[in-house]
Amino acid sequence: MQELIDKIKQYGMVLPHDVLKVDAFLNHQVDPQLMKHVGEEFAKRFAGNSIDHVWTVESSGIAPALMTSLALDVPMIFARKHQSLTLKHDMYTAKAYSYTKQTTNNISISKKYVTPGEHVLLIDDFMANGQAVNGMLEIAKQAGVHVVGIGIVIEKSFQPGGKKLREQGLRVESLAKIKSLADGKVSFVEE
Ligand code: 5GP
Repeated sequence: MQELIDKIKQYGMVLPHDVLKVDAFLNHQVDPQLMKHVGEEFAKRFAGNSIDHVWTVESSGIAPALMTSLALDVPMIFARKHQSLTLKHDMYTAKAYSYTKQTTNNISISKKYVTPGEHVLLIDDFMANGQAVNGMLEIAKQAGVHVVGIGIVIEKSFQPGGKKLREQGLRVESLAKIKSLADGKVSFVEE
C-alpha cells in the first residue's frame, strides 16, 4: 500500500533491536485518513470471506482494526491485556509475549461477545515473531471460531512470524513488508 510506505519513509525511525518507531501516524499520534484507507484495503483484500467479527489486541491494533470493522460493517473486539474489574468472569485467555515491552501478557476476550462457529478476521499493527497473533489464535481455538485470515499493517518480513503463520496455511495480508532495518535504514520487500 503505497500511501503507507510513503508514511513509513517520511516518519519511520529505526530503534535498536530492529524496532521501527511509527509514533507519528500509528502507535501514538494516529492519522485517521491513513487508518481509514488501511481499513478499506483490508476489507477489499478479504472481500470474498464471510466475516462476523474483527479481533485485535489493545492498544495499537485498535485503530486499524476499528477502521477495518467499519469498512466491513461488523463489530470489532480488542483483547484486553489487563484484567478489568467489570470483565472478570467468563473470559477466554491466552499468553502473548510482547516484542517491544519484553514482558508476557495474558490477553483475554469475553465469552459474551463470541459465538462458536463464527468467522473472525485478526488485525494487528505489527508482525514480528507472531506472538500477539498466536495469542489470538489460541483464543480462537478455545472458542471454536474460524479464523478467515490475518491483516497486518506493517510486517517485518525478516522476522519469522509471518512465514510461520503462512506455513500453517493461514492467509496473512500485510500492507507494508519490511525487508530490513539494518544500519538504521528501512528497506521494503519489492512486490
Ligand atoms: P509479535 O507478537 O509479532 O512478535 O510482535 C507484534 C507486536 O509487537 C505488535 O502488536 C506491536 O505492538 C509490537 N511490535 C513488534 N515489532 C514492532 C516494531 O518494530 N515497532 C513497533 N512500533 N511495534 C512493534
